[in-house]
Amino acid sequence: MRRLAVLIVVMMVICATVGGVSVLLLYRVAFDQQAQRLIETVESQAELMEAVALYVKLTSRDDEDWRRITLGLIKNAHAEFDYTGLGQTGEFVIAERSGEEIHYLLRTPEGIDPRPWTLPWASDPERPMHRALMGITGSFVGPDYAGVTVLAATHSVDVLDMGLVAKLDVAEVRAPFIHAGMVIAGIAVVLIAIGTVVFFLVGEPVVRRLEESEAHYRRLFDHSPTPILIVDPVTTLPVAFNNALLAVLGYTRDEFAALPLAVYEAKETEREIADHLDRLMIEGGEFETRWRTKAGAIRSILVHARVVEFNGRPVCHAVITDITRRQTAEARAREFYGHLLRMNRANELGQMLAGLIHEVRQPLTAAFNYTSACRRVLEQGRDPPERASELAAKASGQIERASEFIGSLKLFLQHEDMALEPGDINAIVKETMELAAIGSGAASLAVRLDLEEDLPDVPVAKVGLQQVLLNLVRNALEAMAGTPLPKLTVKTARREEGGVELSVIDTGTGISDEVALRLFQPFVTSKPGSMGIGLSLCRSIIEAHGGRLWWEPNSEGGAVFRFSLPSEGPHPIQGSGR
Ligand code: ADP
Repeated sequence: MRRLAVLIVVMMVICATVGGVSVLLLYRVAFDQQAQRLIETVESQAELMEAVALYVKLTSRDDEDWRRITLGLIKNAHAEFDYTGLGQTGEFVIAERSGEEIHYLLRTPEGIDPRPWTLPWASDPERPMHRALMGITGSFVGPDYAGVTVLAATHSVDVLDMGLVAKLDVAEVRAPFIHAGMVIAGIAVVLIAIGTVVFFLVGEPVVRRLEESEAHYRRLFDHSPTPILIVDPVTTLPVAFNNALLAVLGYTRDEFAALPLAVYEAKETEREIADHLDRLMIEGGEFETRWRTKAGAIRSILVHARVVEFNGRPVCHAVITDITRRQTAEARAREFYGHLLRMNRANELGQMLAGLIHEVRQPLTAAFNYTSACRRVLEQGRDPPERASELAAKASGQIERASEFIGSLKLFLQHEDMALEPGDINAIVKETMELAAIGSGAASLAVRLDLEEDLPDVPVAKVGLQQVLLNLVRNALEAMAGTPLPKLTVKTARREEGGVELSVIDTGTGISDEVALRLFQPFVTSKPGSMGIGLSLCRSIIEAHGGRLWWEPNSEGGAVFRFSLPSEGPHPIQGSGR
């Protein structure tokens, strides 16, 4: 609606300007023409009067007569003359100066208006007749003897000592143009009204559709679940952003609209931001950074940026991914697998033992308390026998709890609790190597994977197998630390007798004869601070799968640890050694 009002005002201003200027120009031309006509009238009259006067003067006897006769002739001629061309208000006037008075001698056409025939000479020096009697020739706009504004032409007739004025009311000259202006204004109003209606009928629906479409896309943008930010590369102020972005940072729309990038960018300095934006504006790109939320929390942010044109200028369009949770999850995974790796180390084992002792001691202490209470009840005989049996039941419940725990621990140590499920060894190897990389903090480990394709699935306990693999890889990496050409290969192959074989081949220090003799026995280690039970645990896990774990020297130097996994799972006798 406001737009329509503006449009109408603009159209009116244009019409008024064009119409007004046209009418004014035409008026100026007509005015000048009218002035010219009046000048021509007084000039021709003056020449005529002079000619008549000279003729009468030549033929008459005395001075007085020839002036009077001339004037009489002029008056007669004017009485006969049909004045056209001076319009409704036009007048032709002849006057003479007599001392301090102006005597009006002739006014044509006669009787238009009863006016005084004599006016004082000093009444108004700007009146047309005054100027004519002063000998001023030309056109002039000003008040006449009756005070009406007129367009007048003045001329003097020197022979007769008279002044001539031909004049026309200015209002009469203007009248047709005022009329024309009003007609133009009326036409303009009608045209504007028609234009408005046409705009409503044709333009408005189009505009509304455009507005709806814009609103639709704005809604899509605003409610997109992906945070989007468009930044002015010069001011670093946001040009556009959606609700998802505000949700990441916790600002309100108005607050964020005034924030330069440096306020919430937590990784780069202002100088680095400017350099980075310059680079992005040339090549775009993807990078990780950190943002500070309104509450001061730090979020890890992945930015995909590119240059787009927005309102005719290049801006940086960034799609944001909040990877804080992903990074936290990765950190947890790292921690978990680091934990798996460290499981065999002494202090961890100590902690585990402390936990186990606690788990067993707690129910036994409770059982002891219940049996003591039961004995007291029986000895004192005050409570009913049901009370004693209730306490005894509670004590046996606690003992059962401890017994169950020890039983499950035994099963765990014997790996009988491991649920074996058919698994793709190659997939498990790849996944474990990625996790080992995460665990080591490296983007990827320099491990060569030599995996035979289309291996059969074999029954495996995935976590147990991962633990074995991680142990062997860790041992290999530790053995290669400081060697000039470390090369670690994890190889899978199909076994002729069925099942698969997995080898971890390193070019490390190799295994000394002394260690080799007791390699798979627990507490055998060459590393200070290690418990040396990793390999014995690995062997027991592989044997729980019905497989075998062994080692052989690597022909290139170093050691090869291999294990087999049968296709049919643990043999009843092989399995756990029960
Ligand atoms: P830990 O690694 O805690 O010492 P392990 O049972 O895993 O316990 O290993 C026992 C010992 O076997 C190690 O201390 C090391 O001397 C030796 N060993 C294991 N794997 C390798 C290997 N790939 N290369 C050389 N020595 C190894």
